[in-house]
Parts: sequence; structure tokens; C-alpha cells
Amino acid sequence: MTFGDSTRSVRAGSASPGQPGQPFLPGPVFAAPYHLDPVAGPQPGVDGYGRTDNPTLRALESAIGDLEGGECVAFSSGMAAVSAVLLALLRPGDTVVVPADGYFLARAFAQESLPGVRVLLAPTAGPYPSFDGVQLVLLETPANPGLDVCDIASLAAQAHEAGALVAVDNTTPTPLGQRPLELGADLSVASASKALTGHSDLVLGYVCATSSELAGRLRTWRARTGGVPGPFEAWLAHRSLGTLDLRLRRQSENAAAVAELLAGRPEVSSVRWPGRPADPAYRIASRQMRRIPGIVTFTLPSKAHVDAFLTTSELIAAATSFGGLHSSADRRAQWGDDAPEGLVRLSCGIEDTQDLVADVTAALDAAARTAA
Ligand code: PLP
Repeated sequence: MTFGDSTRSVRAGSASPGQPGQPFLPGPVFAAPYHLDPVAGPQPGVDGYGRTDNPTLRALESAIGDLEGGECVAFSSGMAAVSAVLLALLRPGDTVVVPADGYFLARAFAQESLPGVRVLLAPTAGPYPSFDGVQLVLLETPANPGLDVCDIASLAAQAHEAGALVAVDNTTPTPLGQRPLELGADLSVASASKALTGHSDLVLGYVCATSSELAGRLRTWRARTGGVPGPFEAWLAHRSLGTLDLRLRRQSENAAAVAELLAGRPEVSSVRWPGRPADPAYRIASRQMRRIPGIVTFTLPSKAHVDAFLTTSELIAAATSFGGLHSSADRRAQWGDDAPEGLVRLSCGIEDTQDLVADVTAALDAAARTAA
């Protein structure tokens, strides 16, 4: 039987059927070493040491793997996952294509920490360079923070034709919003610190692969470099997955309403939300994505205008990161991101839509009065 998204989220990684007397989700197992058989020593299939063996982490990986449709290797953060892909798969002399407008630390890492690797930057919406001589194409769609979208299936076909692997940063959509492996990517990599876990209370990342060989290389890389998630984070992440569908639905509804509101405001010079028919990414997004995330990026006239907006709003917290229960906003230029001073990435939470719309309207009105 094929289940819907919410059923899959609730059941992901759970033992089925449940065992009498056992909890729905077993608690975290805290262990550095485990007892070994004093005579036989390490045995296949018996946990020995926490850097490689942990049942709580395996359950989470099984859950995320179910949702992404691949084999999952979890990492201690999204950056640990992104850097593992780049470092484990590239060698000096190789060429990698990375997004010019994606998460800025991934770009900075590629440019500054891959000695001997040629790094080509490509805007998410294109044009892309020829993939001849390229070993790895890293895509991020929708790109953070500008929310441009690229056609994963078409780029994956072109990259494979040239012999390159394709990794997609799936942080913003989550596997319920987009399934890169089904669209032809070899790897789906993400920060699970955002909407996937969605409660703004943990830092985590993962890579999912269609090939066991690739997943095995990343698992070996993780065991050797040590960026393994702790059991508490793994358990907390798994506990949060069950509500993913519900959270994303409300976030997306809120984003639709807020994007419409922003589009009608004279002080807002650009609004990006790939679910709006007027958005340049709408056509590809509606074909490729299963749902549109709750992130809206817009531009106010100045830093002062953003400051007034954020200090007046009751519901929008000033915070970096995104995808949580609470609405939050981040003025990206404050992090050295190459963004206009007034560009705001607004992450819509799960508040009631009418409350959020009323709050954004009041805060924009107040900011406009302050600026006048
Ligand atoms: N990828 C994207 C698109 C992100 O937005 C982020 C963080 O904001 C990362 C990767 C890195 O994730 P983490 O902060 O969990 O290391």
C-alpha cells in the first residue's frame, strides 16, 4: 500500500509492527564503548563503539532514507554533510560546479578549502557552464536566500552525460517538498537543522545516496573524520519528523498569504516565493516540487527600514536559520552574504495565517511611518 506524506512521516524509521511493551520511538542510547564479548571480541552486527555504531542514529537514518528514497548517512551538521560530499568525492585536479547564489558557507568552503580543485560558480537559474571535465555538480534548489530554482532532471542528465556526479542541497524543500534522487541526482544533501526537524532546537545534517557504494564512501569518511551526530540530537530529530507534513502545510499556506501581501506593498522592491504564479521560478517549481516551502525573500529600501520592521513585529523573531515553528527573519547582509542591505529572508512559522498577515501588515505600516 502506498501511504501519503503524513502517514510516511509518522511511520518513518519505526519498527513495524510495534512490539508489545516497547515505546513507539525508543529513547536515545547513550554509549561510547559497548560491552564486548570478553573472549570473542568484536562481532559483526554487534555494536562496539559510538563513533560508528548507534541504534538511535540508525533509526533516524532509516527514517530519512525512507523519505528521501535512498540510503542515508547522518552528520553532525549540514556543513559537515556538505563538506563530506566535497572532500570525500573530489581530488586535486578535479573540477566542481557550485551554486553562485546558494548557501554562502558551502560556496566559501568549496572556494577556500579544496586545494587543487577547480571551482566553477553557476547561478541556480543558469546559465550553466559545460560539464565536460567536471567531476561533481552541486545544486541548491530553491537556492538560499534568493529562491531561484533549477531543473534537477535536465541538469542531472547533462552532468551524467559528461560523467559527473550530481548532489542537490535539499535543505529548504525537505524530502516532502522535493525528491532529488527520483529526479536523477546521485546525492541529496541537507541541513536537518531547518524545516526537516523544525523546532529550532538542534543542529544536524545528512546525505542520502541512491548507490550503496557512494553511501559507503561517505560512511567511511564520517567514521574517519568523526562528524557523527550525538544520540540525543538523532532521537530529537526522529521525534520531530512525525509532524513534518503538518508543519510544512501551514508554513506554505502562511508563505502564500505573506508573499501576496508583500507583492502589493509599494516599499517592497522584490518578492520571491516560487509558489506565486508571477515568480520567475514558478514554472519549474510547480513541475518539480511536491510543495513550496514557507520561505519568502523580499527587499525593503534600507537596513533602517528592516530594523523598524523587525522591532515592531510581535510574531517575527530576528534569527538566522529557518524552517522552525516560529516565524523568523534574517537580514542576510549582516552575515557578509553578498545581498542588498534591505534583503530579508522571512521564514513563515506555523502561527495562524490571519495573525501572521495582520502582524506583518502592522509592522510594515509602522516601518513605513518611521521611514517617512
Ligand atoms: N545548506 C543550506 C541551504 C543551508 O541554509 C545551511 C545553513 O543555513 C546549510 C546547508 C548548513 O547547515 P548547518 O547550519 O546545519 O550546518
